Amino acid sequence: MDIYDFIVIGGGMMGAPCARYLAEAGHSVALIAAPEPADVQSWTGPLGSHFDAARITRHVAADADWALASARSIARYADLEARSDLRIFHETGALMAGPVEGPLADWTRGFRDVATRVTGATLIDTDDARSRLGLALPAGSVVSHEATGGGWMDPRAMRQASQALAAEGGATILPLHATAREDSTVTLANGTRIGADHVIVATGPHTASDGLLPARPALKVWARTIAFAELSEAEGARLADMPSVIWVPEGWDYDLYMLPPVRYPDGRLYLKIGGQVDSPRIESAADMTAWFRSGGDAAVADRLMTEMRAVLPGLAIERSTPGPCAVVWSATGYPYIERLSDRVTVLCGGNGASAKCGDEWGRLSAIAATGGRLDGEGYACDFRAVWA
Ligand SMILES: Cc1cc2nc3c(=O)[nH]c(=O)nc-3n(C[C@H](O)[C@H](O)[C@H](O)COP(=O)(O)OP(=O)(O)OC[C@H]3O[C@@H](n4cnc5c(N)ncnc54)[C@H](O)[C@@H]3O)c2cc1C
Repeated sequence: MDIYDFIVIGGGMMGAPCARYLAEAGHSVALIAAPEPADVQSWTGPLGSHFDAARITRHVAADADWALASARSIARYADLEARSDLRIFHETGALMAGPVEGPLADWTRGFRDVATRVTGATLIDTDDARSRLGLALPAGSVVSHEATGGGWMDPRAMRQASQALAAEGGATILPLHATAREDSTVTLANGTRIGADHVIVATGPHTASDGLLPARPALKVWARTIAFAELSEAEGARLADMPSVIWVPEGWDYDLYMLPPVRYPDGRLYLKIGGQVDSPRIESAADMTAWFRSGGDAAVADRLMTEMRAVLPGLAIERSTPGPCAVVWSATGYPYIERLSDRVTVLCGGNGASAKCGDEWGRLSAIAATGGRLDGEGYACDFRAVWA
């Protein structure tokens, strides 16, 4: 049986950076990284939250810890790009807008507070957002605009860069999935067993139900629908200066997010919109597979497209399509990053916002897994896991 210092299970936004940090620190590492399925209809392995071409990245957040993790991760994109020769970051700018009153008033106060303390972010008014950025946001919204330092990042490029640099650091990348863990011995889908001093479990939306941790973490896994609006080249060019946008539509009590035009692997340009609170829960791998195979909920996608048109007056769309995704909410609002025993560390709970800052969560988990403390890392949160 091959034996390593560390096995990381899950090579997504948090697990791949964890493996990179451990390998670059000189440890022997195996990263068990199930690939992204080419065809979900025939795929029976695990799925993930990052199978897409773009994720919003921004310094501004409604919470100082999230802002710190994002700032540290964004500051490392250039190094990762230079060393991997992959383009991760697209600096289109990022905007957040929220109401002053109502159930989201605290959220708005939170990001306004962070924005005023973050270099590069300015508060603008909704007239400004309309005339300069073409965005028709609800009147009276508080608007932060991060003209530089925010935009979108390519999660597949981030995964590829992190895995490639982990391999360069000596890690063994195993492109299949783990089916079981007993202490620090892990069984792979092909029946092989590998061992380590310590195992980090970072299996994204599967962590709540795959039995790879000693107990079930308190996580809510939501089946969310996103909508893609295909644009002509001319419309894409018209919207080329658009920032990433997070906003609360008039009278709503949750926020939506939208990305600027992004060229997808099929060669076409799409705007993407997401945000939903009434989505079904995913409780098992079977639920996950069924949800991804369903292609998402067309009625939710229609609702999202209505809001996209409202915020982008005059938008010309060739066609729109729904898409499925799975987001994972923790009980604390922060990822769970905790060394549970000499044998296992947990790394999960992206809270819908960890593609941009998975690199920092991976760094913290490498510290925790090697027996280090997180209380000197500058965060108010202790990242302790909560159990179901
Ligand atoms: C539609 C959508 C939009 C989002 N938008 C944003 C955004 O704009 N900005 C942002 O920062 N974040 C965003 N997120 C959230 C972000 O994508 C997640 O927080 C992040 O991917 C979580 O990282 P993770 O490593 O926990 O999980 P994942 O990235 O899902 O990685 C988990 C990995 O583990 C693998 N795996 C699972 N089980 C096993 C196993 N048994 N063996 C081996 N491998 C296994 C999976 O294949 C996957 O590759 C969004 C998420 C969704 C779904």
